[in-house]
Amino acid sequence: MIKINFLPALLMLMCMLPACAQTPTTEQQNKNAMDNKNQKPEVVVNKEELKQKLTTEQYNVTQMCSTEPPFKNKYWDNHITGMYYCVICNSPLFKSDTKFDSGTGWPSFFKPVTDSSLIEIKDTAYGMVRTEIQCAKCHSHLGHVFDDGPRPTGLRYCMNSASLNFIPDEEK
Ligand SMILES: [Zn+2]
Repeated sequence: MIKINFLPALLMLMCMLPACAQTPTTEQQNKNAMDNKNQKPEVVVNKEELKQKLTTEQYNVTQMCSTEPPFKNKYWDNHITGMYYCVICNSPLFKSDTKFDSGTGWPSFFKPVTDSSLIEIKDTAYGMVRTEIQCAKCHSHLGHVFDDGPRPTGLRYCMNSASLNFIPDEEK
C-alpha cells in the first residue's frame, strides 16, 4: 500500500501563496489587465544600476514581482498625510487620504492618484487569477488589486511598501 503524506505538500503550497492574494478579481478587471500587457514603459530602467541603488527587498519586489512580509514593512501602519511615489521613477501613485486599514499588513488604498497612474496585468501565477498592479511609467511591480475594498470604489490596491516612497505634505 502506498501511503501519501499530504501535510508537507500542503504546507509547501501554502508557503508559495503570496499572502496579498485573497479574492479573485472581476472579469472586467481581467479584461483591462489583458489590454495593458503589451504597453511599453515610458521610463526604461537599467537593472544593473537599480541593483546598486535599491535594497535587496526593493529590487526583488519591484523587478522580480516578489512580495514583502505583512506587518514588517515601512508603510502598512503609516497614517501621516502626504503622497506615495514610485520608488523607481518618482511618479505620484497614491494620496494618503485614499489609504485605509485593510488589516492585511500591507499599505492599502482604494484609489490611485489618477486613472493613468497604474497599469493592470493579468497574473495567473500560483494557480490563481489575480490582477497585478504596475507603475504606468516604469512598469515596476507594486502589488495587486482586489474587489473587496471600501467605498466609493470597492477596490483594494494591496501594495508593497518596498515599491513606494512616501513624502509627508510638510516636506514638500
Ligand atoms: Zn515607476
